[in-house]
Amino acid sequence: MSEKGRAEKLQELKTQLEFYRDLGVDFLVSPRKPKGARPAAEAEAPLLLSYGSGSGPSAANQEEWERLIRRIMTCQACPLFKGRKQAVPGEGNRRAQLMFVGEAPGRDEDLQGKPFVGRAGQLLTRIIQAMGFSREGVYIANVIKCRPPENRTPKPEEIKACSPFLLRQIELIHPRVIVALGKVATDFFLQSPKSMSDLRGHFDQFQGIPVMPTFHPSYLVRNEGNKEIKKMVWEDMKKVLELLKS
Ligand code: SF4
Repeated sequence: MSEKGRAEKLQELKTQLEFYRDLGVDFLVSPRKPKGARPAAEAEAPLLLSYGSGSGPSAANQEEWERLIRRIMTCQACPLFKGRKQAVPGEGNRRAQLMFVGEAPGRDEDLQGKPFVGRAGQLLTRIIQAMGFSREGVYIANVIKCRPPENRTPKPEEIKACSPFLLRQIELIHPRVIVALGKVATDFFLQSPKSMSDLRGHFDQFQGIPVMPTFHPSYLVRNEGNKEIKKMVWEDMKKVLELLKS
């Protein structure tokens, strides 16, 4: 590796460690490479804890997924299709025990076709890693699959039109826990008039699946210097880990 490459790696590591410190992470995960070749689905393999992901998806399940993704990519059920570069269905382990659901794609996501790839996405990735997972080991999706203009909040009719897709994803994955990132995702599951500050940190249920509301990573980005918010998010994630361990 070149000198420049090493310096970049070191800077990356420093940023990550500083972020963990701000979160209040009270342990560090030692990334270890799995022995031998393992199927992609097992990439969930939590580095910290062993939850197991069962066997890989069946052929029928795969077909169902391909059909669903095709429907999302060609959907015109609400006006948001007009402004998208591409729809962003979601990505990750289709048998994940842990699922993260955000609001809608932003500019970077719209360009790359992947969820949470901008600055907020980098933060989410660090949180996932701090929990002992890899990004590929969990499933990440949004309530809305196409970027709203200027990243505005999705309208209720857009959420309604798009909701069958997320519901089907949840049905297919059947995660043990869902983390709802921000108010739009939290409202999708819980429809509560309470604020995020009141809702976060407390499990509720959606179709029998525990849902943990927490702040959206973009809120963390907007309040970068506020360590308290980061700590609150980490407290919420610790509760998720506890539940997964039980
Ligand atoms: S946001 Fe959802 S409902 Fe609207 S066009 Fe995109 S995929 Fe279809």
